[in-house]
Amino acid sequence: MVGGEPLPEDFDLSLIKDTVPPAVLSSDEAEDSNEKVKRDMVLGRKVHTSCLEVTEPEADDEVTGEREAYMASVLARYRKSLIERTKHHLGYPCNLDSDYGALAQLQHFPINNLGDPFIESNYGVHSKQFEVGVLDWFARLWELEKNEYWGYITNGGTECNLHGILVGREIFPDGILYASLESHYSVFKAARMYRMECEKVETLCSGKIDCDDFKAKLLCHKDKPAIINVNIGTTVKGAVDDLDLVIQTLEEAGFSHDRFYIHCDGALFGLMMLFVKHLHQACAPKVTFKRPIGSVSVSGHKFLGCPMPCGVQITRLEHINALSMNVEYLASIDATIMGSRNGHASIFLWYTLNQKGYKGFQKDVQKCLKNAQYLKDRLVDAGIGAMLNELSSTVVFERPHDEEFMRKWQLACQGNIAHVVVMPNITVEKLDDFLDELLEKRKTWFLDGKCQPYCIASDVGQQNCLCTVHK
Ligand SMILES: *Cc1c(COP(=O)(O)O)cnc(C)c1O
Repeated sequence: MVGGEPLPEDFDLSLIKDTVPPAVLSSDEAEDSNEKVKRDMVLGRKVHTSCLEVTEPEADDEVTGEREAYMASVLARYRKSLIERTKHHLGYPCNLDSDYGALAQLQHFPINNLGDPFIESNYGVHSKQFEVGVLDWFARLWELEKNEYWGYITNGGTECNLHGILVGREIFPDGILYASLESHYSVFKAARMYRMECEKVETLCSGKIDCDDFKAKLLCHKDKPAIINVNIGTTVKGAVDDLDLVIQTLEEAGFSHDRFYIHCDGALFGLMMLFVKHLHQACAPKVTFKRPIGSVSVSGHKFLGCPMPCGVQITRLEHINALSMNVEYLASIDATIMGSRNGHASIFLWYTLNQKGYKGFQKDVQKCLKNAQYLKDRLVDAGIGAMLNELSSTVVFERPHDEEFMRKWQLACQGNIAHVVVMPNITVEKLDDFLDELLEKRKTWFLDGKCQPYCIASDVGQQNCLCTVHK
C-alpha cells in the first residue's frame, strides 16, 4: 500500500526498536523477527518497505515527457488507493464527508499564520482574518467574550494539549498534573516534556475518570496546586469525564479556584458535546468558561472533517496576559507552541463552519449518535460484546480475530477491544457492509472451537461482555 496506514491513536512508539528495517530482510522475515511485538503493531506496519523512492530526472526527460507521465501515474495510483482506503475507514475519527472544491484555487499559496493570530507580522501571506473568525465562533460556543479569550488554530489535538498544560504549568510552576489513565498519550508526553510531576488517576469501566481515586490523590498533595486534564471524549472509549464532579472533587479536597487549572481535552467530542446536550438534557456536563476551567480544545480533522490535521485551542486572555507580562519571556514562548503555522487549516475550518453552521452540526451529531446506537445494537444482537457510552459515538467491541480484517477496516485496537468511531461520513450502508463481513468472518474464526471470542469484561465491564464466561 502506497503511503501506509495511519497509526492508531494509542500507538506506542516505544514498540519500534529500529524505525528503519534492515534492507536485506524480506517483508516475511521481517515480520517473523518481530513476532513478539507484531500483535500490538497491527496497524503500524513499517512503511519503509513500500516507500516511493525519489528518482533523479534524466537529461532528456523534459523532451520525452516520460518523467511527468511517471509522476502522474504514481499519483493516480495513490489517489485510487486513497479512495479505496477511505471506503473502509471506521476506526479513526475523521470525517471524510466534506467537499472543499472551492478552496482548490488557494492551494499553491504559501499561507502561513506565523505566531500570534491577533498580532499581524510582516509576513503578508496569512489567513489570520479567517483564523480569528473561527476562534470567535468557538469562543462564543464555549461562552467566553471576545475581549476575554485568547486562542489559536494548532496543528492538532496534541499541540492543543501541549499548550493547555503549558499554560497551567506557567500559572502553577510547582503544580502537579492529574490525568486519567485513559487520557490521550499526548497528555503524558506533555508531562515528560515539561518535566512535571504527574499523577495518573484510575478510570471507571466506562473510561471516565474515577473521582474517588482523584480525590485520594489530591489529598496526598494538598500543598501543591493541581493542573487537571479533563477528557471530553477519551480516544478509545469515547468517555466524557464528568466536569462538574471533577470541580466538586477539587473543592471537597480543599482546592480553592485559584489553586487549580483545568484543561479540557475535547479533541474528539469537544464540539459534538454541545449538540448532544439537546438530546440528553440531564446528563451532559456542559463545557463552558462559565465554569472554572482554563482552556478547551477540539480537533479540526476529526468531527469537523478538515483534510489536514489541525485543532482549535481557546483559553482565557488573562492567563496569556499574565504569561506575557515578562517581555523577555514572551519572546521565548511567543504564546503559540509553533512559530510558522498552517494558514490553509484556518480557511478550511472557516469554510466548514460557514457551510454547516450550528444547525448542520446538530444534524450531523444526531446522525452519528443514531448510527452508533444502530451499530452497537446489531453487534449485541449478533452475540458480540459491545459498549457505547452515553453522549458518545464510539462503539467499543470485541477485538476481531483476523488481523487482515482489522487492517482492511482500519480498526484501532487496544488489548482485547477494538472501536469504531461513528463520524458523519459513516452511513448505515457502510456499517451494514462491515457487520455482514464481520459476521461472515466470525463463523470461520470460531468454527471448530479452536478459538473463542475475547473476554472484554476488564475493559468495559462484565455487563457488556459476551464471552463464553460472561454470556
Ligand atoms: C485524537 C486525540 C488527541 C490528539 O490529536 P492529534 O490531532 O492526533 O494530535 C488528543 N486527545 C484526544 C482525546 C484525542 O482523541
